[in-house]
Amino acid sequence: MDHFHYQDGVLHAEAVPLPRIADAVGTPVYVYSRATLTRHARVFRDALSIVPSARIAFAVKSNPNLAVLKVLAAEGYGADVVSGGELERALAAGMAPDGVVFSGVGKTDAEMTRALEAGIGQFNLESLEEGLELAEIARGLGRTAACALRVNPDVDAGTHGKISTGKAENKFGVPFDRAAAIYARLCAEPGLAMRGLALHIGSQLSRLDPLEAAFTKVGGLMREIRKSGYAVTHMDLGGGVGVPYKAGEVFPQPADYAAMVARVTADWGVTLMFEPGRVITGNTGVLVTRVIRVKEGAVHPWVVIDAAMNDLARPALYDAWHDFAAVAPNGQRITANIVGPICESSDTFAMARDIDDVTRGDLAVFRTAGAYGATMANTYNSRAMVPEVMVDGDRWAVVADRIAPATILAAERVPDFLV
Ligand SMILES: *Cc1c(COP(=O)(O)O)cnc(C)c1O
Repeated sequence: MDHFHYQDGVLHAEAVPLPRIADAVGTPVYVYSRATLTRHARVFRDALSIVPSARIAFAVKSNPNLAVLKVLAAEGYGADVVSGGELERALAAGMAPDGVVFSGVGKTDAEMTRALEAGIGQFNLESLEEGLELAEIARGLGRTAACALRVNPDVDAGTHGKISTGKAENKFGVPFDRAAAIYARLCAEPGLAMRGLALHIGSQLSRLDPLEAAFTKVGGLMREIRKSGYAVTHMDLGGGVGVPYKAGEVFPQPADYAAMVARVTADWGVTLMFEPGRVITGNTGVLVTRVIRVKEGAVHPWVVIDAAMNDLARPALYDAWHDFAAVAPNGQRITANIVGPICESSDTFAMARDIDDVTRGDLAVFRTAGAYGATMANTYNSRAMVPEVMVDGDRWAVVADRIAPATILAAERVPDFLV
């Protein structure tokens, strides 16, 4: 459920007509609905109230905008960060350091040092090597790092290959059959406080059974580790719950997910940790774009819009589908290809799609663009960095500026040896 709806034939974000924002800020522009964000945060949190002890760390990479993080901080969310930059954002948004979990295979010494100094809650170690390096840094600082060991459960998430993370051939976590030995080794390391296991098998999962299989497998590993005499008090079940991108698709709801988790973990006796991203922010945003022109095609017309793969990369990266809708539909439908201006054939949002009839100058949106949208934007083809807006009832504000090509050009230098 979201708060993007038609009123008098015009698409609104909450009480604000989208043309008002497009006219003031220009296009393309991401528009987020605060009410939708809050609602998703609460539905997920309330669903998990059936498990005895749950802590939720929002996956910052899905939408790192400061205003978004601020809303989630107020809802009691911590942060799952994967870089020093994300850590600084979480702290800047007022998230409690001990609610921050640091994931990722490539944490640098500088990032680990900063995270220890900030007093973050947990490091999710992805290798023995990383654990030993962190231990040394922690000892040098006179600190102890609370850690979970990320395990690769070798389960097929059944999602797109580029967002699968839990198969043996993926770079993430330690191999399942080595995990108990590595855990024991790290427990012996001064500077570390090993407290549990972590897993995350992929993103945009449309079914719960791969998650259940992975949780069950890692639950068995937890028992094995405990039998060897080591404590496990925290289990981090990662993120991955998907959202429908096509109208009419049915996905597991947070309540279904929570019921499965409660069933599988009933006798675990741990604090459960969660790292949802997309399920919180996906429906929170749309990308507003304007049609530049409609170009005649061999089979179908090309609807050329002013948003491109640099603004919304998911279709080019993962063949992802985003529903497309006119902001002020005229009631007619056409079959068309939707493309951006970038000089690459991968700059294609849809082929032979049945869409609202649009023409030069019309506004339209891609829906469900709140997760992995603006955060993946870049300036390819010397385009501007796309701006972001947040709506709250009848109020709205720019929460990330458009960065003009001239500003980016101004950061470049011609060295003396060229003059
Ligand atoms: C990306 C990621 C998440 C969030 O995934 P979603 O599919 O957005 O829920 C959680 N944990 C880790 C370690 C990740 O890399």
